[in-house]
Amino acid sequence: MNDKITVLIDELCKNHGLTTDEYAYLIEYRDEESKQLLAERARQVREKIYGRDVFIRGLIEISNYCKNDCFYCGIRRSNKECQRYRLGKEEILACCKEGYQLGFRTFVLQGGEDAFYTDDILCDIIRDIKNNFSDCAVTLSLGERGRMSFECLYKAGAERYLLRHETADAKHYASLHPKELTLQSRLQCLRDLKEIGYQTGCGFMVGSPGQTIESLAKDLKWIEEFKPAMCGIGPFIPHHATQYAGEQPGSIELTCFLLSVIRLIHPGILLPATTALATLDTNGTEKGILAGANVVMPNLSPADAKEKYELYNNKAYNGMEAARNVELLKKRMETIGYQVVTDRGDVREAL
Ligand code: SAM
Repeated sequence: MNDKITVLIDELCKNHGLTTDEYAYLIEYRDEESKQLLAERARQVREKIYGRDVFIRGLIEISNYCKNDCFYCGIRRSNKECQRYRLGKEEILACCKEGYQLGFRTFVLQGGEDAFYTDDILCDIIRDIKNNFSDCAVTLSLGERGRMSFECLYKAGAERYLLRHETADAKHYASLHPKELTLQSRLQCLRDLKEIGYQTGCGFMVGSPGQTIESLAKDLKWIEEFKPAMCGIGPFIPHHATQYAGEQPGSIELTCFLLSVIRLIHPGILLPATTALATLDTNGTEKGILAGANVVMPNLSPADAKEKYELYNNKAYNGMEAARNVELLKKRMETIGYQVVTDRGDVREAL
């Protein structure tokens, strides 16, 4: 580890921010020693705020219909091989009921951008979840919607929203998406969500085609300035029916390194060890937690939906990624000195 890296890590721990060039330097010249030091510091700050608790979220994949055509995504509109499905209110409530009994106190409704789910339909679902499970949080991850729609869903009781910004580099964003999707509009949605009062989550894929150290440094700087409540990062994994089928997946090592950096930028942030991490590495969840993550999002969707919600090849959903196997997740977290808790797991300010 060279002297400059030592200075940058100290600076990050003290002031929770670096310049874009410094973030790039930290990524480019990372080595085993700097990775370990960052992970150690990340675990220390996380422990001060959240102890050794791991929050769980029950992920319900409500629809794989999507009007968008993101080039990397398995449920993109133009993938004709994708067998489409959507869940109705009763099916969603049944997932919540099962999740509640298993100890989940947050339900994440995720799906493609499916026009079937009008504000009226979603508000009705959210209200019913809140009426039946009043001590639970509802998180939405349903893509871009208008500000009025976000306001309406918030008033109905949704309190968190996950919308990955995907990349803070406009050129990179344009290379991953068709031209009707712009970084500007994505970021506007994120600003709206935050202003409305949602605990707002952003995030990006690590190793997406065209990503560079400079674009990653821009992601870190943007995250530093935006101050999200949550940040979902996971390795890019190719999907066989997309133009990126032959690309290499993103790296576990770099994902974990970035988790540590993000934890140090925002000590109180909620950071999931993502399903993509668990898909690429059977110990991916443990590695993510040990790098500074404090959230896991096991899958609560009905069996048929889990199979059809295929964002990338071989998506993990049977092992401890399955909500029904939460006991296995608990044991594996205990093995590394952490405990899964029954808690809404709201964001906390840095102490
Ligand atoms: N439609 C919503 C949205 O746009 O936020 C939520 C669903 S979207 C499929 C959820 C996330 O999956 C995306 O933000 C993207 O980062 C991730 N994703 C999609 N394709 C992926 C791939 N091939 N590898 C890894 N992650 C992927």
